[in-house]
Amino acid sequence: MNITANSVWDNCLAFIKDNIQPQAFKTWFEPIKPIKLTENALSIQVPSKFFYEWLEEHYIKLLKVALTKELGPNAKLVYIIKMENTYGNKEPFTEKIPSSNRVGMVPQELDVPIKSKNPELKNPFVIPGIRNIKIESQLNPNYNFENFLEGDSNRLARSAGMAVANKPGGTSFNPLLVFGGVGLGKTHLAHAIGVEIKDKYPERTVLYISAEKFTQQYIESVKKNTRNDFIHFYQLIDVLIIDDVQFLSGKSGTQDVFFHIFNHLHQNGKQVILTSDKAPVDMQDIEQRLLSRFKWGLSAELQSPDYETRVSILKNKIYRDGVEMPEPIIDYIAKNIKTNIRELEGAIISLIAQSSFNKKEVTLELAQQVVEKFVKNTKREVSIDYIQKVVSDYFEMDVATLQSKTRKRHIVQARQLAMFFAKKYTKASLASIGSQIGKRDHATVLHACKTVDNLAETDKQFRKYIDDLSKKFS
Ligand code: ADP
Ligand code: MG
Repeated sequence: MNITANSVWDNCLAFIKDNIQPQAFKTWFEPIKPIKLTENALSIQVPSKFFYEWLEEHYIKLLKVALTKELGPNAKLVYIIKMENTYGNKEPFTEKIPSSNRVGMVPQELDVPIKSKNPELKNPFVIPGIRNIKIESQLNPNYNFENFLEGDSNRLARSAGMAVANKPGGTSFNPLLVFGGVGLGKTHLAHAIGVEIKDKYPERTVLYISAEKFTQQYIESVKKNTRNDFIHFYQLIDVLIIDDVQFLSGKSGTQDVFFHIFNHLHQNGKQVILTSDKAPVDMQDIEQRLLSRFKWGLSAELQSPDYETRVSILKNKIYRDGVEMPEPIIDYIAKNIKTNIRELEGAIISLIAQSSFNKKEVTLELAQQVVEKFVKNTKREVSIDYIQKVVSDYFEMDVATLQSKTRKRHIVQARQLAMFFAKKYTKASLASIGSQIGKRDHATVLHACKTVDNLAETDKQFRKYIDDLSKKFS
């Protein structure tokens, strides 16, 4: 009988089928196509690199036994990775990759069509193919270690970041998770690590991306049927920096794909750096398996800067801008803006601008006006939508639940609190608040505000809700 790739593979499949679960067989073996047989090497086509890795990891022994039965002790297996749903340009791209010497099945071949020469395809989405295509890091060189001032509030995170930058993938801080409130320097530090790595190891592929953008790209890839390419692209990165991972909350598809990418990178000694506005224990709607990964490395908190750090950040900013500022003014700003470095910078920038545009001398009075305006301005940004989001997050429900018609006590209370804060922090009328929070009338909102006032006096637990939430809005 004539031995062909097909007949060899059919026999292998029969053997494999007897030895694994039907579901696994369906998932991992049915999609494989035998391509060619030369001497004792069988080439099989698999749909993605991830697929190939999965086979290597989980089924290589079985494959080896099956193949050896068919082709003798010198049997070889060659993988051809063929992406489905490729683009116009079908030119194949072939790359030899090092064999997995565990089993001595060599060589493997990657046959990945690339979509090159397409000018509208900008990074970071160039797609597989790769290697010769440069991946732009998307790093901001203005966010570096030099201008990331050290203080008690950031010492651990900063030095962990430096350690990672010195030896990406080579420390136990993998992943490195930097967490802390808004405006405390997460994005700055994340860039600084990337910039430093690029400086020390120019040949490494570093990529900075916000979790939001990552999610958009993923959704896009699902729409366009290029999910494999998406995964493949991210698996090529040496240092992956994902900013604001809390954005992945509730997005199970993106979490799933990130889980696979993370595992791949981690197993291959690549560095992952994440930032989040919360500690892993406080993250909601993030899958347990992902949370547990986040905890593998180091979670380092950025805290609110103390007074000395605030002063040195201000002085540094002034110095870099080449302006002068009387000491009492710096002191005034540092004493009055405490919890957010972005606002601290905003105030000083606005002060510098005011004084130079209006040719006014920077007086304490001007500083007071600016700070006041600044603080007020940020207050005015609180919208009813934002309030509803914060209150529902706090009570671990979604906004739709908060707005729903239910009479369940904890939901009613959450809704009343949202109304109360909307009244307190926005200029909206009772009627407008009511219509935005679940289509209620003004009387309901009025009642809600009174109820909250009453409960604040009589119910200790409820008082705590108000205090916790107030902190989030001020
Ligand atoms: P986050 O991402 O945590 O919201 P950012 O990284 O955007 O905060 O930081 C807000 C601003 O504060 C940026 O302009 C950043 O340069 C500045 N900043 C934060 N931390 C420091 C620091 N330690 N030294 C100097 N500037 C800082
Ligand atoms: Mg940020």
